[in-house]
Amino acid sequence: MKIGVIGAGLVGSTAAYALIMRGVGREIVLVDLDAARAGAEADDLYHAVPFAHQLTVSAGDYAQLAGCRLVVIAAGVSQEPGETRLQLLGRNAEVFRQVIPRILKYAPEAILLVATNPVDVMTHLAAHFAGQLGLPSSRVIGSGTTLDTARFRALLGRRLQIDPQHVHAYVLGEHGDSEVLAWSLVTAASLPLDDFCRDAGIQLGPQERDEIDAGVRRAAYSIIEGKGATYYGIGSAIARICEVILRDQRALLTVCTPLEDLLGVQNVTVAMPNLLGGAGVIRTLSQPLTSEEQEALRRSASIVRQAITSLGL
Ligand code: ADP
Repeated sequence: MKIGVIGAGLVGSTAAYALIMRGVGREIVLVDLDAARAGAEADDLYHAVPFAHQLTVSAGDYAQLAGCRLVVIAAGVSQEPGETRLQLLGRNAEVFRQVIPRILKYAPEAILLVATNPVDVMTHLAAHFAGQLGLPSSRVIGSGTTLDTARFRALLGRRLQIDPQHVHAYVLGEHGDSEVLAWSLVTAASLPLDDFCRDAGIQLGPQERDEIDAGVRRAAYSIIEGKGATYYGIGSAIARICEVILRDQRALLTVCTPLEDLLGVQNVTVAMPNLLGGAGVIRTLSQPLTSEEQEALRRSASIVRQAITSLGL
């Protein structure tokens, strides 16, 4: 199966690397405004293939996307230190206006997976442009809070001294400052969090929760401060989403996709747990949140909605 990656920068190339390491897909095509960069990345990536899984990697133009089942969009300008994701919006909207029709010209049936930040707004924008060309919004997906959810589970697992695979927890809403860590839904080994902590004699009070909250919510800021960009985590998250779609795994991931209504906020794109399969989003699951969490999620969705409105949509 063929996967296109638009934007062979740090995120796009790392996603391609993660696909190779995971053995997802048979062919990867990198497309970038900077053709020399895409070519160099494709060569470098192809040299990793003998040590991983058999697939081909090449750089090309949009025409080479013909036959892609899935196209990852990681094109755009990167986040500056201290810049919020929403501030990136204006600079990246123009890139999408050009890129989406070019992709769909050659791969009209592809599922689009958006990773460019601010990812919720960019996914909404991608769905808007793709919708004008007939692609249903269930086939336009953003990475959303897939990575934030993984960070939340990892930090909880460390605190609870349990493999994060046995921790269920979701980060909902905007991939950014207003995201909502849904503490009331957390289960560990099928037990509600408080019950697990009581049984295991683990302290997880307000201070420990605040530390985990900051570890999830502030992660991108501290990584960007230390090394200028984040890409391993998001690249791995993208590869996992691709795997779920291409192998029709019906997994629940906190990707974002356009929603008609979320807690009274109309026509907005933010992350919720979505059942994902070969055709894209099968169903968005609503969650029994506390009233405080609902309020935080409504606020988060409103923030994203405002940014979408600022684009005239
Ligand atoms: P990130 O860290 O988000 O990956 P980068 O700046 O490393 O950010 O990569 C973004 C990539 O997107 C760059 O390689 C850039 O050339 C590419 N890009 C920007 N605009 C376009 C466009 N219109 N079409 C294709 N690629 C683009």
